[in-house]
Amino acid sequence: MSPFLDLPPLGAARFAAIEDQVAGLLRTRADVIVTQGEALLPLEAAIRSAAHPGSTALNIVTGPYGQTFGNWLRDCGTKVVDLVVPFSTAVTADQVAEALAAEPAVDFVSLVHAEAATGNTNPVAAIGEVVRAHGALLMLDAVASVAAEPLLTDAWGVDLCVIGGQKAMGGPAGVSAVSVSDRAWERILANPAAPRRSYLSLLDWKERWTDAGRTVLPHAPAQLEMLALGACLDRIEAETLDATIARHRAAAAATRAGVRALGTFSLFVPDDSAAAPVATTLRTPPGLDAAGLAEALDPALPIQAGGGALAGELLRVNHYGRAASLDTVLACLTALAARVQGADGVIEAAEAAWSVAIAG
Ligand SMILES: *Cc1c(COP(=O)(O)O)cnc(C)c1O
Repeated sequence: MSPFLDLPPLGAARFAAIEDQVAGLLRTRADVIVTQGEALLPLEAAIRSAAHPGSTALNIVTGPYGQTFGNWLRDCGTKVVDLVVPFSTAVTADQVAEALAAEPAVDFVSLVHAEAATGNTNPVAAIGEVVRAHGALLMLDAVASVAAEPLLTDAWGVDLCVIGGQKAMGGPAGVSAVSVSDRAWERILANPAAPRRSYLSLLDWKERWTDAGRTVLPHAPAQLEMLALGACLDRIEAETLDATIARHRAAAAATRAGVRALGTFSLFVPDDSAAAPVATTLRTPPGLDAAGLAEALDPALPIQAGGGALAGELLRVNHYGRAASLDTVLACLTALAARVQGADGVIEAAEAAWSVAIAG
């Protein structure tokens, strides 16, 4: 008997309750829609709903997803100003303020919170303040930050906050969510180019689901993924969000301390305050191919080579979800230490950093 088959239908009440749990997790009173697809669905839906010819977007590029957002914005006929910073750093609120001052017409800002691919994270609270003062909408990709670091959607002035379950939440990749502020709905409603009668339409969800009292689902939900999302939300509530966040912070601190003790690798993101809690990226020394090294390691370890142009020189140690544990971090460091010479005190350094970080 498979537990995945012959399940009773997932009803509207359960679906709405899961949306409310997500709203609590995001610290928002705005509408939350649990979108029935991987997180790229609500990211693309948010951009196509808000963007149009005649609008101007500031697209902040701190990793590969920013490049994707820029392409969607241009496809919508929006004038796009890219603010690109080295992927080994965070963008600062001052840089954003400068870019907005240089382009007063900006009415939409896209930003990624934590970047799992490059291992950096951005100061959203300070950036949100600058964007709000300018009067633009702020879209945030919080897929890799939710449950790994504080995410205060309303307090930070985030109008469109997108999350997925597959990173720190340790949940399914097949459903995702977006919160939509009143300001964002106003803009979307006024946008003749916003998708309507489309799988990418946020307005369809608003009309047929949210505003209709959430009593009848517009189509059959992704039932297994919804059950898994509900289960991982329950698990976070049981552990507490603060403890889940602390575990990710400690995993990053321990990994970074261990890598410093290893010596052979350098941290791709040198500044601790710009380091993401979900993944630590390492530069391999000249002559040590990152892809080859990753291949040679136990495939059960959450270590992979960097993507794209960085594949040869970047290693990524993932520590999100269940992998945000001291055991997993130590197993990763032990495997790396076995590949280099003269690595002393690695485990001790990692354990000490874990203890300090977990205590807050
Ligand atoms: C993981 C992630 C996503 C989701 O993309 P997948 O590659 O499908 O996992 C989106 N944005 C960010 C910043 C991510 O880290």
